[in-house]
Amino acid sequence: MQFGLSEEQEMIVSTVRSFVENEIYPHEDVVERSGEVPIEVAERIKAKTLELGFYACNFPEEVGGAGLSYLEFALVERELGRGSMALTHFFGRPQNILMACEGEQQEKYLFPAVRGEKMDALAMTEPGAGSDVRGMKCAAVRDGGDWVLNGTKHFISGAEHADFFIVFVATGEDQTPRGPKKRITTFLVDRGTSGFTVRDGYKSVSHRGYKNMVLEFDDCRLSDAQVLGEVDGGFAVMNEWLYATRLTVAAFCVGRARRAFDYALDYAAQREQFGQPIGKFQGVGFQIADMITEIDAADLLTLSAASRLDAAVPANREIASAKLYASEMLARVTDAAIQVHGGMGLMDDYPLERFWRDARVERIWDGTSEIQRHIISRELLRPLGA
Ligand SMILES: Cc1cc2nc3c(=O)[nH]c(=O)nc-3n(C[C@H](O)[C@H](O)[C@H](O)COP(=O)(O)OP(=O)(O)OC[C@H]3O[C@@H](n4cnc5c(N)ncnc54)[C@H](O)[C@@H]3O)c2cc1C
Repeated sequence: MQFGLSEEQEMIVSTVRSFVENEIYPHEDVVERSGEVPIEVAERIKAKTLELGFYACNFPEEVGGAGLSYLEFALVERELGRGSMALTHFFGRPQNILMACEGEQQEKYLFPAVRGEKMDALAMTEPGAGSDVRGMKCAAVRDGGDWVLNGTKHFISGAEHADFFIVFVATGEDQTPRGPKKRITTFLVDRGTSGFTVRDGYKSVSHRGYKNMVLEFDDCRLSDAQVLGEVDGGFAVMNEWLYATRLTVAAFCVGRARRAFDYALDYAAQREQFGQPIGKFQGVGFQIADMITEIDAADLLTLSAASRLDAAVPANREIASAKLYASEMLARVTDAAIQVHGGMGLMDDYPLERFWRDARVERIWDGTSEIQRHIISRELLRPLGA
């Protein structure tokens, strides 16, 4: 792993930082208070991102993306993490799994997604199947030459703006010595398909304006042309393309924590009690010291895991450690930032109570902290036969 960024990478960081400060921060209050992203704001963010050449920056150049390395993409996500997720959603980063599109699927889904003409959403989770993906009940069965899909997905982010959905569905079951094991297939499903409804989901305390929705499939008929990858090959595409998405959560957490830290540092230097800046009291100064140490540690874990991906060496454990540590670090840092601000930390005059609320989901989505610990411990123990 190399320490220090190249001139080009520094440029990526400063460009995205300015974008977030100029195009995202000014709209955060409106989104927070209304729970909605005004359409004209969403369109402006998208247009500016396209203009800068950052739209779909996580895709290779040969399909029209910016061809960033994993490390560079982590730097982009880190800067975007400073801003409201509801707004940075329009700094489009389509799901990498679309790289599995073949033939006509590329014209219909991949290229329009990369050009910002269509938006996608990814649907795996169900009311009865979260961490246990294979426990899904959503199933497609053969009928003539088609597939007929029934079931429900919930907690689907970005569904409100999605033109199409990447949906994981059970398409059979194998009997194994450890019991029945579902076979999973990935489908590309257009909004508006007969038998497919998108409805409002739950109201979350984290990331107001970045809504989650419920997808319902009621005898929804799909063709073989809508299968992404191979029939029964859902886990293969998932493992190949969704492997690294947890790293974007880690990078987001680092960026968000640095923004919270900046508020805490400034307040500790300015706020006076007992005739001196509160930062001079060891009780506050040491909190500041712990915050920055943890943020730097999470940053290095994240960039190190990204470098491993760039070097094409195994990174599963390292990605899990980065996601685990960075999301738990963000919870501690946002909590400490409020503590440093005293009562004002809880008031919505500052964005700190929002950062604190937003932080809560990071330990849950893209694999809970417990699932990350499971991945880490299995990677270490399995080679020892345990
Ligand atoms: C706001 C929001 C947006 C989301 N967006 C999407 C999306 O766009 N697409 C999508 O598909 N999903 C999405 N999710 C789903 C998310 O990935 C799941 O919530 C997550 O995987 C956990 O599943 P669950 O909520 O069903 O919890 P469960 O799996 O029911 O877990 C409950 C508790 O049990 C623990 N647990 C479960 N299994 C184990 C185990 N083996 N060992 C130890 N502990 C365990 C968990 O860690 C957790 O503490 C979103 C969730 C939220 C909250």
